[in-house]
Order: sequence, then structure tokens, then C-alpha cells
Amino acid sequence: MDKKELRKRLTAEAWKVTQEGETEAPFSGQYVDNKEKGVYKCVVCEQNLFSSEAKFDSKTGWPSFTEPENLERVRLGKDDSGGMKRTEVLCRKCGAHLGHVFSDTPAGRQRYCINSCSLEFQKKRSVKSNL
Ligand SMILES: [Zn+2]
Repeated sequence: MDKKELRKRLTAEAWKVTQEGETEAPFSGQYVDNKEKGVYKCVVCEQNLFSSEAKFDSKTGWPSFTEPENLERVRLGKDDSGGMKRTEVLCRKCGAHLGHVFSDTPAGRQRYCINSCSLEFQKKRSVKSNL
């Protein structure tokens, strides 16, 4: 992908997050409280990453998911920046930084803590019944 084109297409914040590994400010992202049904895609390469069904309210200020739609769509990497040992979540297809994964939920589930600006939400179309 042409980086120049990408820089034009992404917002300044999405660029910093996906290309430079920064984290958006908590409660600042557009999808923190999004409860609509649909799919969250990678803002860079547009492959599906997370389903709204895996989204839960973690109260952390970032969209949080129990799991990716498909584990093969993401890549996990070590991130020791900022004096913390964290596991970074990247888009496997384009390498965009998405966020981090933690296992800090009470139920011991994983929490994929993802920056809103690295995602693009596509609302599920309501299917009309044939009745
Ligand atoms: Zn991607």
C-alpha cells in the first residue's frame, strides 16, 4: 500500500495509531459506546476484524472485544514500550496497529482493547423477512 496515499486517506489520529503505534485518549473514540450490530473493519485495509457480538462494555474508555471475528485476521506482538509489558494487536493483512490484548477481566476472558480510530464500523443491514 502506498504510504503517501494512505496518509491522505487516514485522519491524523488514525495515522498515528495504526502506523506509529500510538493510543487514542480514553473515551475519545467514536465507537466506545457503539452498541449497534455490525462488523468492525480495519480502517487501513478494510478486512473484517471484530464482530459487534464480541463487543462488551469494559468501562476502560476503549472499544473492547472478547475475541476477533477470526484469529487469523490479527497478529499478536510483544510491546515493551512505556515501561509496560503488553501484547500488541496488529492487523495481519496490513500490519496496522490496532490496540492491545489483556486478560484482566473478572471472568478471565481476554479483552481486546482496540482504538476506535483504527476501526471502521459497518452497520448490519436489517434483513427483511419474506413473510
Ligand atoms: Zn488492516
